[in-house]
Amino acid sequence: MPETISEQDFEHSALAFLEANAEPRVEARQSWGEGSDQVSILPERTLEEERAELTAARAWAQKRFDAGFSWITGPVEFGGQGLSREYQRSYDALEAGFATPPMSAYGIGLGMVAPTILAHATDEVKGRYLRPLWRGDIVACQLFSEPGAGSDLASLKTRAVRDGDEWIVTGQKVWTSGAHLSEIGEIMCRTNPDAPKHKGLTGFVVDMHAPGVEVRPLRQMTGGASFNEVFFTEVRIPDSHRLGDVNGGWTVALTTLMNERAAIGGGMASGGGGNMGTQRLIELVRHQGRADDPLVRQQLADIIINGRVASFTNLRAMAKIATGQLPGPEMSISKLTLTMNMRRVSDLVAAVLGPRLVADTGEWGTYAWSKFVLGLPGMRLAGGTDEILRNIIGERVLGLPKEPSAQK
Ligand SMILES: Cc1cc2nc3c(=O)[nH]c(=O)nc-3n(C[C@H](O)[C@H](O)[C@H](O)COP(=O)(O)OP(=O)(O)OC[C@H]3O[C@@H](n4cnc5c(N)ncnc54)[C@H](O)[C@@H]3O)c2cc1C
Repeated sequence: MPETISEQDFEHSALAFLEANAEPRVEARQSWGEGSDQVSILPERTLEEERAELTAARAWAQKRFDAGFSWITGPVEFGGQGLSREYQRSYDALEAGFATPPMSAYGIGLGMVAPTILAHATDEVKGRYLRPLWRGDIVACQLFSEPGAGSDLASLKTRAVRDGDEWIVTGQKVWTSGAHLSEIGEIMCRTNPDAPKHKGLTGFVVDMHAPGVEVRPLRQMTGGASFNEVFFTEVRIPDSHRLGDVNGGWTVALTTLMNERAAIGGGMASGGGGNMGTQRLIELVRHQGRADDPLVRQQLADIIINGRVASFTNLRAMAKIATGQLPGPEMSISKLTLTMNMRRVSDLVAAVLGPRLVADTGEWGTYAWSKFVLGLPGMRLAGGTDEILRNIIGERVLGLPKEPSAQK
């Protein structure tokens, strides 16, 4: 695609590509009792279903990349199109009108790992991984959290010890979403145990199929197994796969975490964020004969209003990102608003369904809500826990004094 293509010509060729390769999206209005009644937050697919979804996503990603509509804003030398964000927005708006496969397997790789590689990796690593990541040939995961390091990420213990041109990594990561499907991972390791905790970390790109890497699925209480424990036993990583400076990993981690908030926010702004199923909730209330109950109506109104507040706050943050600014506390506010709203949904569903939330009576659209209620704690943890987000809002928005431990 020519670098100087006008927006009009770009849209014209994007539409031609979409019309030739996808069907227009038809919004099926589902009636009560018809089709699947699933309202889960976390993915609940079997491994076979996940693999089938990935195969479909990969076929679409490859076709889209080869036509020049995947990494529209990326640098040309690494496989991007070198165009501005306006072109990306135009393409996204056009693609939204077509039925395309779910791309969730690529969310972490493209939303968080690829931007970090672009910002901090050597040219060798950029050349080796950015194109296959964006073409969907490979999947990437984020190897940050450990059994003793989640909110306090800087206290992580996985060690990387230098051995000539390589690093030897030993330790354990946990809650690694999609590690079982990934070819590479972004790993944060301790390289100087004697330095203050934020100053002894280094980031790397690790080959998930290297000898010494063991991925063990973790089953969620809702039944699915979308994340894993990952064990590293003397895994060798070439120094060329280092991200940023030795002991400069905190800056690298912040790049990833900023992009994580933006990726979560982008999903929420476009109506995602865990299939809250507002329409389904309204129908549930109607079908259970509670639509005239003033307290239930009040709760429903609160849920709808707060859902809109979360998505508008996200749009504000997205607009900031689009002008090249860093996402600020808006992301924390909107994620917290979203999870608080999910709690309201859980409370309302529990009040309306009573024991049918925990005992399957076989009635369509009732017991299915148990997966939503049981998935909520995960949403309140992932991407910053409710309490950590409150700390951020307290300190950065309200100007309250920092936590005593953070003042040291
Ligand atoms: C669905 C899901 C997907 C995930 N995917 C990934 C992934 O792909 N890669 C990855 O690396 N990690 C992933 N995580 C892990 C996630 O980043 C951590 O769960 C999160 O950072 C919290 O860490 P923790 O679970 O260790 O809880 P902890 O940090 O131990 O927190 C426990 C409790 O203490 C509270 N708390 C902690 N510190 C403070 C404080 N200073 N002030 C007040 N309260 C505090 C917390 O709010 C929480 O309620 C995922 C988690 C979930 C739920």
